[in-house]
Formats: sequence, structure tokens, C-alpha cells
Amino acid sequence: MTVPSIPLAGVIGAPVAHSRSPRLHGHWLRAYGLPGHYVPLEIAAEDFEAAVRTLPKLGFVGVNVTIPYKEKMLEIADVVSDRATRIGAVNTVIFRADGKIHADNTDGYGFIENLRQGAPGWDAAAGPAVVFGAGGAARAVIASLLELGAPEIRLTNRTRLRADALKNEFGSRVRVVEWVQAGNVLDDAALVVNSTSLGMAGKAELRVPLDGLRKGTVVTDLVYTPLQTRFLRVAAEQGCTCVDGLGMLIHQAVPGFERWFGKRPEVDEATRAAIL
Ligand code: NAP
Repeated sequence: MTVPSIPLAGVIGAPVAHSRSPRLHGHWLRAYGLPGHYVPLEIAAEDFEAAVRTLPKLGFVGVNVTIPYKEKMLEIADVVSDRATRIGAVNTVIFRADGKIHADNTDGYGFIENLRQGAPGWDAAAGPAVVFGAGGAARAVIASLLELGAPEIRLTNRTRLRADALKNEFGSRVRVVEWVQAGNVLDDAALVVNSTSLGMAGKAELRVPLDGLRKGTVVTDLVYTPLQTRFLRVAAEQGCTCVDGLGMLIHQAVPGFERWFGKRPEVDEATRAAIL
């Protein structure tokens, strides 16, 4: 008699101790009574490739990838999804039964699903989006908004060169706005996104003037510690529809969980409570 193997998954990075993913996947495994384990795996740079190639032999069906390996994983993968190629980074890996390493990026998906759940009726094509920040997270935000037909993305970043580089990559619908002018391009925006790390506990506040925000504009912050950032608080006071960043973190995990453990999990209040 063969003993059925218990699927293993995890998050690989350095460091990984701060990751909320083990709590999230652990919650879903328990909620659905599924066999499986999800563990944090800190891997040193010099061991990274060897470790990734060993994981399937140890029973791992896939992993999430976090800093600093999101780009490096692209080089190791045998198959890369279109959206991971567009974003230029990997956050979800599937170790396929045929031995191939399949790399995907679900950050843009998580970003969009979070908006759909938190701001029902929101439509990317309805008007310009303003994006603060031009780092890794901004790439996923921009790629997903363009894919859904956003007519214009006003991209603003402290380091102008990084915003220019994204414009060169993503094309003419991206317009770079000087960081000091960011407050001047909000009034007709359908969506305003903070994808900088400003406002995170322990970091400086986002100080872009927000009086241009209008009632009904959808405003979202990728920062989720704290859940209610100053940016979201000010936006709410001005009548905006606010969506916090925790939902993005949860939604981006859905496709991986489904592929690894065979059940599409729900994103509900119990899920949020489990990882807070
Ligand atoms: P990143 O690649 O390091 O980019 C950081 C961004 O923040 C850059 O645009 C940077 O501008 C800007 N920034 C940092 N300090 C600044 C300051 N003092 N003044 C002005 N701008 C500043 O980081 P990332 O991976 O894009 O992540 C950004 C944030 O999103 C983080 O807080 C992360 O936790 C969050 N995030 C959340 C989710 C989620 O699921 N909710 C997913 C991904 C990321 P410069 O280019 O000028 O340095």
C-alpha cells in the first residue's frame, strides 16, 4: 500500500521571518481540512538555485518567492507566464509533475481582485490612474492596469529615472509626473495608488498634498502595516472609496493555493482576521 504524500509549499527568500504567508496558507489548510503544510524557508544567495531544484524532490509542490529572489527566479524557471514576464519578477512557483519549474506573478492579479472586492463597480478603463512609486510593486500595478484598459497612468516617483524607465518599458499610456507635482494630477483621477513604502510603520509618511482628491475616487494603499495609513485616512475624509493593502496580499495567494492544494480559497473576513 502506498501512503499518499502530503503536499508541501512555502515561501523562499531572505529574510522570511516577517512573512504572513505561512499564517495565511495555514489558515486555509485548516479551514478546508486539507492535508498539507506551508513553511517559511530562508535560503542564502549562494544556495538558492540548488535549494530550488531540491525542493520538488522533498515533496514541495510549489513556493512563493520573496525578496531578494523575485527576479533571480526568472532565470531558473523552465516556463514563465506572460504576466511574470511583463512584470519582470516571480512571486509564485509551481513544481510541475513533468519536472518543469513554472514561474508566475500573481501580484497584479491580487491588486486588481482586491480593488474589485473593496470597490465594487470600479473599472480600470473609466479614467486616469495615478501611481505613486516606481519600484517592484509599481510594475505589477502598472502592468495589470494597462492590461485592463486604463487610458492613462500618471506615474510619479521620488527618483525620476526609475519612473522614466517604467515609461520606456510600458509605453505611451504611462505619463511621468514630477514627484513635487504629484498633488496636482489627482482631481480627475479614477484611481490613486500608493505603491511606495511611505506610510509603513517605521518609515516616513507619504507627504504628497492630497487636497486634490475628489469624492468617489478609488484610493488604495499597498502598505498594510498599519492597515489604516494616513494616506487612506485623509482620502476617506475627502469622500474617496478606500481599499487597504491587506486584501492584495491575500488575493495574490489564491492562485498558488489552488494549484498546490487543489481548492480555490475564499477571501473573507475570517481570512483577514487570521493574518492580522
Ligand atoms: P521597492 O521596489 O523597494 O520600491 C520602493 C518605492 O518606495 C520606490 O518607488 C521608492 O522611491 C519609494 N520610496 C521609498 N522611500 C521613499 C521616500 N523616503 N520618499 C519617497 N519615495 C520613497 O518596494 P516594492 O516592492 O515596490 O514595495 C513597495 C511597498 O508596497 C512596500 O511597502 C511593500 O510592503 C508594499 N507591497 C504590498 C503588497 C501587498 O500585497 N499589499 C505587495 C507588494 C508590495 P525611489 O525609487 O525614489 O527610491
